[in-house]
Amino acid sequence: MRKLLVLASLFLAVFGRKTFERHQVLRITAVNDVQISLLKNLTDHEYLELDFWREPVHESLPVDVHVPSTSLHKVKSFLKNNKIHYEIMIQDLQDLVDKEQQEMMRFRAHQPKSTNDFDYTNYHTLDEIYTFIDMLVKENPKLVSKIVIGQSYEGRPLNVLKFSTGPNRPGIWIDTGIHSREWITQACGTRFAKMIAASYNRDAALTDILNTFDIFLEIIVNPDGFQFTHTTDRMWRKTRKPNPGSPCVGVDPNRNWNASFGGPGSSKDPCDPIYCGPSAHSESEVKAIVDFVQSHGKLKAFVSIHSYSQFLLYPYGYTKTACKDKTELDKLARKAVAALKSLYGTKYKYGSIINVIYQASGGSIDWSYDQGIKYSYTFELRPSWSSPDCGCGFLLPADQIIPTAEETWRALMVIMEHTKNNPY
Ligand SMILES: [Zn+2]
Repeated sequence: MRKLLVLASLFLAVFGRKTFERHQVLRITAVNDVQISLLKNLTDHEYLELDFWREPVHESLPVDVHVPSTSLHKVKSFLKNNKIHYEIMIQDLQDLVDKEQQEMMRFRAHQPKSTNDFDYTNYHTLDEIYTFIDMLVKENPKLVSKIVIGQSYEGRPLNVLKFSTGPNRPGIWIDTGIHSREWITQACGTRFAKMIAASYNRDAALTDILNTFDIFLEIIVNPDGFQFTHTTDRMWRKTRKPNPGSPCVGVDPNRNWNASFGGPGSSKDPCDPIYCGPSAHSESEVKAIVDFVQSHGKLKAFVSIHSYSQFLLYPYGYTKTACKDKTELDKLARKAVAALKSLYGTKYKYGSIINVIYQASGGSIDWSYDQGIKYSYTFELRPSWSSPDCGCGFLLPADQIIPTAEETWRALMVIMEHTKNNPY
């Protein structure tokens, strides 16, 4: 495995971008626990180089797995021999990646002069989003400022937008892009930033919120990973810090928080996509948020946005024990997903992380909740986890960016208004 990985990194160093020609994404439906265990065993066969977009958990949730062309025959035979049903969700992953790149080229011909002119219907590079952030601040100097809360491993600034209408306010935290390949999230973050700036003194509900709270929005939590998804590997999830003694790079920044760190649902293997890292908060991208939240001391909501599956989740991920505010958080989640659905009919499931998806240790919202931030939520945006859907996973077509941002915003407003109306 190590030799393979070293060869793979050498290949990338020489030839640049990783290609996914004839790679497929399979959607596998297990019908019982035995089949789930068989699928879990597959994850141990590192030589197959499988990338589980959705892990095997229980039979009610399909498993989505990205299979390189070299492993397709083996994996399909394994599934057939064990009578496990699957369908081909993505026929050729490179086709979708190419299509996304072609769409992005549209933007290259048009450099925006202002945030009104920015193409919100398209995906953008790291530099384009950094430029967007600076334009938004310049255009709205009384409302918006940029705070640099730290530096990524590769030295990029960790920029947070602060929307504020007065001093010493309690705060609401929203982040997108902690997992770099979840491009719909950074795109929504950009759209949210524009919506907040444009709605102050126009939209009564948002104006009320901004007269009570500061809103902090970090659009690119994992800039090194995000840059890498653009230059080298579209499917990169982790940070980009090398792991001493291992050929594998990066830590899963959503297993790196000091909330049952290193427990079930995270991995100690640096080559695993859910590697928790050598110690809690080892990643500067995570530590920067930890330091910010603790020094601020008055954050009342903490919302971290991922894709995909269409879930709205609250703590805990690391334990089955219900959090003490479960009744209130559950009721509020129900209200938020109803508001989200009211726009385009998009259906979300909601509940605690461990009940809706799986046990996961070291996650951000478990940490924020344990810090005393009651309204701690995670979104998993479009697409859904059930067929039929776009058959696209992390490669959500760009024409869904605005609808996704608009519907998610409705749910965010419900959470923010509830936070305002229920001070603690
Ligand atoms: Zn994620």
